[in-house]
Formats: sequence, structure tokens, C-alpha cells
Amino acid sequence: MSIRIKMLLSFTGMLVISLLFILLTASLYTIAATGDLQGFRDIYKVHYQVNPLTEQGEAIFQEMKFMAKNSPDELQNKVLLREFDMKLRAEKSGLYVRRENNPIFESRTFHQPGLGQALPSYDLSNNQIRSTFNIGERFYAYAKFDFQYSDEKRGSIFVIRERSPFAELTRKLLPVMSLLLIGVLVIANLLLFRWITRSFIQPLHQLRSSAEQIKNGHLSFELEPASNDEVGQLSEAFESMRQQLQRSNELRQQDEVSRRELISNISHDLRTPITNIKGYIEGIRDGVANTPEKMESYINIIHSKAVSMDKLVDELFLYSKLDLNQEPFVFNPVDLVDFMEDSIEELRYDLEDKGVVLAWHNRTSGSAVSAVDPDKLKRTVVNIVDNALKYMDHEDKRLSIILEAHQEWNTLIFRDNGKGISEEALPHIFERFYRAEQSRNSSTGGSGLGLAIARQIIDGHGGLIWAESKLGEGTSIHIQLRRLEKGKHNHD
Ligand code: ATP
Ligand code: MG
Repeated sequence: MSIRIKMLLSFTGMLVISLLFILLTASLYTIAATGDLQGFRDIYKVHYQVNPLTEQGEAIFQEMKFMAKNSPDELQNKVLLREFDMKLRAEKSGLYVRRENNPIFESRTFHQPGLGQALPSYDLSNNQIRSTFNIGERFYAYAKFDFQYSDEKRGSIFVIRERSPFAELTRKLLPVMSLLLIGVLVIANLLLFRWITRSFIQPLHQLRSSAEQIKNGHLSFELEPASNDEVGQLSEAFESMRQQLQRSNELRQQDEVSRRELISNISHDLRTPITNIKGYIEGIRDGVANTPEKMESYINIIHSKAVSMDKLVDELFLYSKLDLNQEPFVFNPVDLVDFMEDSIEELRYDLEDKGVVLAWHNRTSGSAVSAVDPDKLKRTVVNIVDNALKYMDHEDKRLSIILEAHQEWNTLIFRDNGKGISEEALPHIFERFYRAEQSRNSSTGGSGLGLAIARQIIDGHGGLIWAESKLGEGTSIHIQLRRLEKGKHNHD
């Protein structure tokens, strides 16, 4: 059974129970008021006819009735009648006595000029002795008795009690009011049911269809929480799950794309030297290299291609190991001043050979110690300096290496005056296989892995690496490594 049906049943149940409750209350009230179990319907219809008077008033009426039967002429005695009237006044009732059509006593209680005409005519059989009448807006209930005076003249006594006009109004409107009340109950129930289904069932339906969409692999919809209640919170949780799924889906797709790119780049970069080597070997086999000089040049080319292939495979291997976190880092506290001085010593020959003027600026006030894997950091430095050499197009070739020690970080800056990197290319140079000049056969060679490896290594150190560059002016590569507390090592 769906929640909707269950709710409909429970609402209908509550409605029926409320109606039964009203009926029961009305019946109990009736019993309490009348002392017996007569129906509410009867009470409604004949209450005033049966009980127009109070108990005391009824007693006085019975006394006068007895008198009318036994000594009717006494009912012409005005003193006596006034006495009766006085007693009735205490009961908020009044007396009216007539002989033929003339009133012989009319209580002052009512001050009602039309009273005589409003009263029913004579009926000796006394078929209906209790009833109601109204004069204008005012509503009266009465008990009457018709009799004959000793001279055969017709006489009537009326004990009359005025009722609130609202009583009559209520009596008249009771069926309409009851229907209205039931109508209001039913409508209120329907509205509540609608409200509950709207705030509860509809979001659940939405959730179900969203789950179905996710099942079918559609993740690009948005689920808006309709309310702040528990159902709204559920929708929110569902929505964040969807976003998470969508994100990981996108990441997976990106990974897939970059994996394909990687394979295509590797095959491309390997195929070029292999094709070359194959070509030169075929040249040798076919006797094209027919002089010792040609043969030597062919073999040199084959050797250099093999070396570049070896370098590429080596870079690829290192990159993929770093990427898969399979290359362990061995950290030691290293003073970067010493480290850089050693590295520069090693690089100096190569730099001078290429005509580059190297300037070393140690801006620390003594030492700059960081936790470093020296072999890997050396690899980073070599890759950066290698680039500075490769992309240098000025006559006056300069490379500055600056070391600064700050509060938290040690910073290394490699600043060259090479050709620089365009604004569009700058954000991508640390991506694998990215080369600002896409022509892979350019004289500079290289696969675009140098800076990607550098970034992997610096990331592994928990440091930062970034580039600043201006086309035609030069490039600065910045490396930040967290500084070790001075007390943690005993360098000096
Ligand atoms: P590899 O280093 O693998 O031999 P690569 O040098 O092309 O190849 P990266 O070192 O990753 O690759 O550099 C990426 C690109 O960034 C380079 O192709 C080059 O266009 C640009 N680049 C890097 N360093 C500099 C620099 N100092 N001056 C100008 N351009 C640079
Ligand atoms: Mg490089």
C-alpha cells in the first residue's frame, strides 16, 4: 500500500472519528440535559413544545389547569391571577387569560400589543397544549389550556415564556450549521491531506525519479530541496551525493582522456627516433654509407637517437613512478646553500661551455635547511637549468640562481634571459608532454616531461613550484620548500 493511500485512509479515519465524536458529544449532552435517551433529532424538533416552561412554571401551569377544570370561574379573579403572574415572573414567564376573545389578564412582563392576535384560537379538546409562536423578531414558547366558564363562555390560560431569538435562529439554522461544520471538517481534512502530500510525497517522488536517472547514468540534473524539514534534508544529502558522483565521473573521464593522450604521446615520441634509426640502418645495409666518413656520421646519428630514446624512456619511467607514488622519497635535512653550491659546481662546466654567465646569489644569512631528497631535488634543478639552456636565444646569455630564506620557506629562483613563455602557454608548462612550441621535431628536442617531473618532485616535498615569464625577456622558475626549525639540526 502506498504512503499516499495510507495517508488518505488515516485522514478519512480521523474525519470519521471526529464526526462520531461530535455526534457522541451531542448525544451525551442531550442525555445530560433531558435525563433520558431520546434522540437528538427529537430534542431538536420538540424540545420547546414539550418543555416550554421551567419546572416551577410548569407547576404553576398545572395548578391553574386544575383550577380551570374544577373551579373555572376563579380564573376571573384578577387578584388571584396577579398572584399567579407574580410567581411566574420569578420564572421569567408571564400569564395571559382570555374569556371569549377578550383578555381578562395580561401580564406586564411582555409589553407586546400583538400578543392577543398571535395566540392560537380556542380548542376545547386541547389537542396541542404546548407550542411556540413569534411576534416580529421575538420568540415565545407557551403552555395553554382551554376550558369553559360556568356560563359556557370559552376561556383560555396561557403561561408564556420568552426565549432568546438566537435560540430560534439556532434551531432554524441547526441543520445548515451542522452541514457547514461537516463541510469545514471535510475541506480542512482535504487541505491538510494536500499539504502533507505536497510537502512529503512529491519530494519523495522527485527523489525516486532522480535515483532512477542516476541509475541510467544521467547525472547532470539538479535537485532543489523543497523545504527545510527532514525530507528537504534528505533531498540535500541526495543532491550532494549526485554532485559527488558527477565530479568523480568527470574526473574518471578526464583520467581516461589523459591516459589516451599519454599513450598517443608516448607512441609518437618513441616512433620518431625509431623511424630515424631504422632509416639510417637501412641506409648502411643498402650501402648508401659507402665512405668511412658517411658511415661514422650515420653511426653518430643512430647513437644520438638511441641516447634521446633512452632519455625519453628514462623520463617516462620516472614520471610514471612518481605519478603512481611508487618512487619513494628519502628525506634528509639539507642545507640548501651547500646543496646549491655543489650543484652549481657540477653544472658550471656545461653552462660555460654554452656561453652562459651564471650568477649565484646566496641571500640567506647563513643556512637554509629543508627536508629534502637530494637526488630528486638535483633532478629538478637539472631539468630547470636544462630548459634555461635550451630556450636561450640571446647573444648575452645569463642565468641567475637566487636562494632566499624566509620565516617559513626557503625559496630558490632560477632566472634566465631566454625567449620567455607566452601568457597562454604559461599555465600549462608543468603539464606532462606540454611544449610551448608544438613542433616536436624542433632542434630543441625534448618530450615535455621535464617540468612535469619537477612539479611531481616538489609536490612530493610538500613544496610549491611556479613560473613567471615575459615573452622575449626571460623566465623565472620559483621553488619554495618548507624551512626546518633551526634547533632541529646541528649544522653549524
Ligand atoms: P623535456 O624537458 O622533457 O626534454 P621540454 O623542455 O620541452 O622537454 P619541459 O621542460 O616540461 O619540456 O618544458 C615545457 C615547455 O615549457 C617547453 O617545451 C618550453 O616551451 C617551455 N619552457 C620551459 N622552460 C622554459 C624557459 N626557461 N624558457 C622558455 N620556455 C620554457
Ligand atoms: Mg625541459
